Order: sequence, then structure tokens, then C-alpha cells
Amino acid sequence: MRAEIVSIGTELLLGQIIDTNAAYIAGELPLLGIDLYYVSQVGDNLGRMTEVLGRAWSRSDIVITTGGLGPTQDDVTREGIAAMLGEKIYADATLEKEIREFFAQRAWKMPESNVKQATLIPSARPIVNPRGTAPGWWVEKDGKLLIAMPGPPIEMQRMWEKEASPRLRQMMKGEVILSRTIKTLGLSEAAVDELLVPFLKDTNPSIGVYAKSDGIQLRLTSKAARREEAAARIAAREDEIRALLGSCIWGLDDETLEGVVGWLLAARKWRLAIMESCTGGLLSSMVTDSPGSSAYFKGGVVAYANEVKVAWGVPSGLIERHGVVSTEVAAAMAAAIRERMKAEVGVSTTGVAGPDELEGKPVGLVYIGLDDGRTQRVVEANVPRRRVDIKKRASVHALFELRRLLLDGG
Ligand code: ATP
Repeated sequence: MRAEIVSIGTELLLGQIIDTNAAYIAGELPLLGIDLYYVSQVGDNLGRMTEVLGRAWSRSDIVITTGGLGPTQDDVTREGIAAMLGEKIYADATLEKEIREFFAQRAWKMPESNVKQATLIPSARPIVNPRGTAPGWWVEKDGKLLIAMPGPPIEMQRMWEKEASPRLRQMMKGEVILSRTIKTLGLSEAAVDELLVPFLKDTNPSIGVYAKSDGIQLRLTSKAARREEAAARIAAREDEIRALLGSCIWGLDDETLEGVVGWLLAARKWRLAIMESCTGGLLSSMVTDSPGSSAYFKGGVVAYANEVKVAWGVPSGLIERHGVVSTEVAAAMAAAIRERMKAEVGVSTTGVAGPDELEGKPVGLVYIGLDDGRTQRVVEANVPRRRVDIKKRASVHALFELRRLLLDGG
């Protein structure tokens, strides 16, 4: 089955909104074993929309549209579909009653223009939309299918999950495509690629290698007649990859480093304190991106100037002797903040964010200090030379090292 997504709305063409609807549906189709061949975008213009829909209808088995189902004059998706299929639009009494009830339940006065949303064409069946007033259309004709859904993501996703996707699953007797993302840090893209040579030519599962801001990601994708079979193929390959990449793997799929670290801290009932310099607060910000972080995050200090580091307990003589970007200062920062905040573990970052080198040390050199009262570790990292990248990469590295410490100590 070949699918095409048509995202409708002039806002898309003006760059005012990003087409997250298409991205969402594109992520869902493989799970149903449906191949996506094209994604098109078109504005709220009846002529151009009819043309784009006609092309999609002629080259695809399933056309999925989002947007343009509202009550206003410029919402013309229904008219576009009707024109493309050569069918006449008519008002449906049951739908109109439902829309009137939607307004009545909320004690809102219904503008008469909403009656437009109670229309159908002979080959369309309505798809319910409890989150809004625009029903979708399920159109089956000449062995092809068109699904029209509203633009607001909250309405569209509900309609997809509860209505469209289950019906498609019933229709599809073909293959299921499953994927799994394996997240790593500490190896370059080339090094990962080299280690994976024995598997790179395989097509089921296939492997894609991608460089992301939180490390190198591997995406395994498998096709099979049944979900269990695809899952088993992926699991077997994942085991082989784990044997090769070992402790460089820190997470799967939607997991984030801050989430993984948060979970480990919470499991040990440890609290974290941070003194950060070159990361400028980003490390603390990332830690607090995780819901529930108040259970384990005591606080963070952005100790940018040397006197602030000293005020928070770093001996000034140490900075003078070794320089502020040094193993010794990173260790002292982590120990000082742990003690001052009475936390179980302290983490620090100190590095050269550029644009110029510092103390004869190159831009991108970062020391990450970790102290849990028993063990003290300092890790040297060399991160990219762009300032924003340095902050992000150093923060990611610090979280990765913290994860390692939490696992080792366990
Ligand atoms: P409404 O009844 O709200 O008018 P509609 O089906 O007519 O719904 P549009 O008017 O096209 O939808 O879009 C409404 C809003 O939905 C947009 O302003 C935008 O916020 C969001 N939206 C529309 N299309 C997309 C898309 N492809 N990706 C992400 N958001 C979208």
C-alpha cells in the first residue's frame, strides 16, 4: 500500500507553522506496514488543492489530508475533495445535530457557518471528532482510500489513534514495520560504523547511523508479516550490538539522558548538586527537563567568574596553581558543591568555551568533575568548537558520566 500525506493550510506555506502533522503520521504509517511515498503541502486555494489531491489520488492507494476542515470561507478541503472526485456536497442532518449538541453542551452559541462542517459527499463517511467541531471524512472509492482529518494536532492525533489507525490496521493484511533506536555516547560516527560493518549490509533489520547532539544513534528497522516476528528480529540484532558497543549505549527510543540519570538518582535516593562554569546553566536546565526532578535535584550554581567558584568553596590557591580549566579545579568544584548543598553527589563543568583559548588550553577542552563523597572522578572531554555546541555537548557528557558513576556504584 502506497500512501501520500497532503498537509493543507496557507500558514504552512508562509512558514508560520511547521508541518508536525505530517511528521506524526509519517511516524505512524510504518507501524501499519504502509509505505509513505510522498508528502505534499498546499495552501487553502481550491484550484491548487484540487490539483494536488488529484495527483495524490492517481499515484497513491491511500491519501491522508490534514487541515482546512474548519467552518470559515477559506477552509475548502471538503470542496477540494468533492471537486477532485467529481461528487456533490450535501448537508447531513445527523452530523448537523451532533455539531449543534457539541455547542449546546458547552453552552456556546453556534455560528451558522459551522453548519458547513456537517456536510458529506456520497462516498464519504464521517469520522468522529470529540475534541472539535470538524468531523473527518473517510472516503472509499475505486479501491482507494482518502482520510481527511482536522488541522489542530490535538484533534488530528486523537482521530488518528482512536479512529483511523484501528480501521487501517484491520484493512492491512500485509507487513508490519517496527523500528528501534539505540542511543550511544563516547564513540565517533566512524567508529560506530566500523564496529557495525558485519551488519550494515543486512536489510532486515536494516541499520541507519545518525549523529545527534546527544551522541550517535542507531535505528534498526525490521519488516515482517507479524509484529512479533519483526520484534524478535530487532531484539536479536540489538543483543549483538550491545555485545559490541557495551557501556557506550545509554538508552533506547524516546529515552533522554536526563531521564535516565533522574531515574537512577531516584532509585538510589541520591540528591544531585551542580556547579557549572562553561555550560552556563544548561546542565541544570537539562536535569530539570525531567518531570519529577525535584525529588533528586538539590540545585545548581553557575559559577562563571573565579571569585564565584571561590565563594562556593573552591580554594583560590588551586585555581592559581593549576588554572581554572583543570582536573584539580573540576574535582574541587564537584566536591565543594556536594558539601555545600548537602547532596549525595556533586557534578561540575569547567572548560574553554571560546572564542579564544584560555590558559594556553584549546577551545572545546572541558573537564567534568564528579564526587559522591567516596569516589572522585574527573573526565576530560574534547567537544566541538562552536560555543552553543560546547555547552550542549559538555552538558550531555556530564550527564553520561554521571550515569556511569551511578551504575558503577550500584
Ligand atoms: P479549524 O477548525 O481549527 O479551523 P482546520 O481543520 O480548518 O481546523 P486549519 O485551519 O487548517 O485546520 O488549521 C488550524 C490550526 O491547526 C493551525 O493554525 C495550526 O495551529 C494547526 N495545524 C494545521 N495544520 C497543521 C500541520 N500540518 N501541522 C501542525 N499543525 C497544524
